[in-house]
Amino acid sequence: MADPDPAFPGSLFDETPAYSYAPADYAEGELVSVLTTQPLDRPLDYKAPPGGVADGAFVLVPLGPRLVMGVVWGRGRGGFDLSKARGINAVLPVPPMREEMRDFLEKAGAYTLTPMPAMLRLATRAPGLTDPPSMRKVYRMGEGEPDRMTDARSRVLAVLEEFGGLAFTLKELSEAAGVTSSVIKGLVKQGAVSEENTPRDLPYPTLDPSLPGKALTEAQEAAADDLRAGLRAGSYGTTLLRGITGSGKTEVYLEAVAAALAQGRQALVLLPEIALSAEFLTRVEQRFGAKPAEWHSGVTMTERRRTWKMVAEGGAQLVVGARSALFLPFRDLGLIVVDEEHDSSYKQEDGVLYNARDMAVLRASIAGAQVVLASATPSLESWVNAQAGKYRRVDLKSRFGAAVLPEMKAIDMRAEEVPSGQWISPALRQAVNQRVEAGEQSLLFLNRRGYAPVTLCRACGHQIECPQCDARMVEHRFLKRLMCHQCGENMPVPETCPKCEAEGTLAAVGPGVERLTEEATALFPEARIATLSSDLFSSARALKQAVATIAGGGADIIVGTQLVAKGHNFPALTLVGVIDSDLGLHGSDMRAAEKTFQLMRQVAGRAGRADKPGQALMQTYQPDHPVIRAILSGDEEEFWNAEAESRHQAGMPPFGRMAGIILSAEQADVAMAAGMELARHDGPIRAAGAVVYGPAPAPIARVRGWHRVRMLVKAPKGVALQRAVSDWVAGVRLPKNLRLAIDIDPQSFF
Ligand code: ADP
Ligand code: ZN
Repeated sequence: MADPDPAFPGSLFDETPAYSYAPADYAEGELVSVLTTQPLDRPLDYKAPPGGVADGAFVLVPLGPRLVMGVVWGRGRGGFDLSKARGINAVLPVPPMREEMRDFLEKAGAYTLTPMPAMLRLATRAPGLTDPPSMRKVYRMGEGEPDRMTDARSRVLAVLEEFGGLAFTLKELSEAAGVTSSVIKGLVKQGAVSEENTPRDLPYPTLDPSLPGKALTEAQEAAADDLRAGLRAGSYGTTLLRGITGSGKTEVYLEAVAAALAQGRQALVLLPEIALSAEFLTRVEQRFGAKPAEWHSGVTMTERRRTWKMVAEGGAQLVVGARSALFLPFRDLGLIVVDEEHDSSYKQEDGVLYNARDMAVLRASIAGAQVVLASATPSLESWVNAQAGKYRRVDLKSRFGAAVLPEMKAIDMRAEEVPSGQWISPALRQAVNQRVEAGEQSLLFLNRRGYAPVTLCRACGHQIECPQCDARMVEHRFLKRLMCHQCGENMPVPETCPKCEAEGTLAAVGPGVERLTEEATALFPEARIATLSSDLFSSARALKQAVATIAGGGADIIVGTQLVAKGHNFPALTLVGVIDSDLGLHGSDMRAAEKTFQLMRQVAGRAGRADKPGQALMQTYQPDHPVIRAILSGDEEEFWNAEAESRHQAGMPPFGRMAGIILSAEQADVAMAAGMELARHDGPIRAAGAVVYGPAPAPIARVRGWHRVRMLVKAPKGVALQRAVSDWVAGVRLPKNLRLAIDIDPQSFF
């Protein structure tokens, strides 16, 4: 018979639901408050249905002519004619939202000044929650005997016997037994195999925390012990797990995950980018014997619904996901890991403006869970919190195994002769050639997508700009289009100048990764060159594939954007050449120094992870700039101390508080006038001891045709900033054709 594949258990299942619905808190006819995702300013009252309803239950309620989904949010307020109250239409077959989750949504909403319906939308972002559970047919051993035994029939029965009471789908069973589905159907008719309907959303395969992990080094073991101790306490606590790239942070926090799972609690690992998870899922599988649930934009809708439900029912022990996984309905969350905690993608920049790192700490503090913030280059905020003793700090000082940190050196571009239209200096070129000859990999790093950032008319000097935004169009030669990196607007590359109509005068100015690839191809004709930039791949899977090929030695030179700076292992990589180290040093962003420092350290960390030492060469026109010097010297504590001191002096976060106000309107003067009006009525802000700056046109003054004006509120630490801002904004009447967004703890100032 066909061997039942032991790699199969993921699709064999035992379908007993792991939850039971909560008893009713409100009897039939009692008035309850229901929060919906509709943009109303408060929950509405409804009558509990026959059988009553529990707090937190997901329900359908009539709203005007429609039925909408909502959550029971405590007792009704009443105060109106009860005979007018409408009833709850249906209670949905999902576990009620836990009190802890409702509390989290309320606190997160209050912190980010987000209305509750929008918070509830974050927590219900799975399709089909209102549908009845979708069913499918499964097959298991029946009571009856087949009329006659054939070879194919006996294979089916043998498979079912082998797996005891487990059920199979038709496809699984026919594959495992090596028979056609009609053989199975025949056995069903005779009662030898039973056919049943079960819910389609099944629990995830069980992760086994007792499987042995890698043998840890002494330093790793000590760090893992610290994290385990936190979990044993069974209460809230945050640990900053600091360790250079390759020091084995992932190995260490997987031990914390194991500890949480062993306690029967759930764990969540947040990662900044989808591309990270392919490698990561395999590691989890190696450690725990099965893959975890996934939650990010690349996951299918069916799988999303399954994850959401299983997290709520306890059928998922571990979720690996992007920032929005924080709003999943965990039943018993024991641990949240925020990997690469400094990563700016944790801040959601549209819709609800929240920082997943901060919200993870909030959620854990409510759930009595532990947080591990892992990074090679922590955010200044977390570093300061650790210094102040609010977070525990665990350091992994050396790299795992023989790997050592790369040697860092500057290439002083003032002394290099680089022809115009080229960006690779002779010094870097020589270093790359050495690697190619030695059969080692090099990375040429440039944090700029596309071919060229500027398209200029040589006849009239016109630069092509986005028709909607205040941004230049970036040429993407691979796609044969000009693209706006702000709004996504794109157009074919014109043949004549849109301004002076001269023909053939448009020239690409400055480098993007595509252009760098062109230069590298000309300079290193013998080398195999791969370009890694997000828009060269049609899907996350294609990108994962390319990363795997390169990691397997499929390229000599990698040309890449910050996509490669994060988390991938390229064992043969021994050289990182940073094309423009000065790129992030300019600009008005208070975090420019911090971000450049982090990015450079991360990129350089790509080199020399295996047994060969690596080297990082940084092309710069400012080798004496303090940030460049700190990167080269490798003295991180000194960098953080200096950076903390300068922010302290300026009263900047985390030593002061800030809120950004973004006003946008289709007419520039509408946005500006509203800003002036707000500025004139800043009483609540001043009363709180804070100050309003602006209004001023935003650095990116137009996006998708909307004009943008910014204001900034700065307050000393300890001021009730949210309160002051909401009182202030509520006190001014703003025109209807204006959008106002409030960004608490802004990360970017565009
Ligand atoms: P980080 O998360 O700090 O970048 P990783 O946990 O990814 O570091 O470890 C870097 C590499 O070293 C990985 O390939 C990992 O499998 C390996 N490694 C780390 N610790 C051990 C260990 N104790 N035993 C075997 N391999 C290890
Ligand atoms: Zn645009």
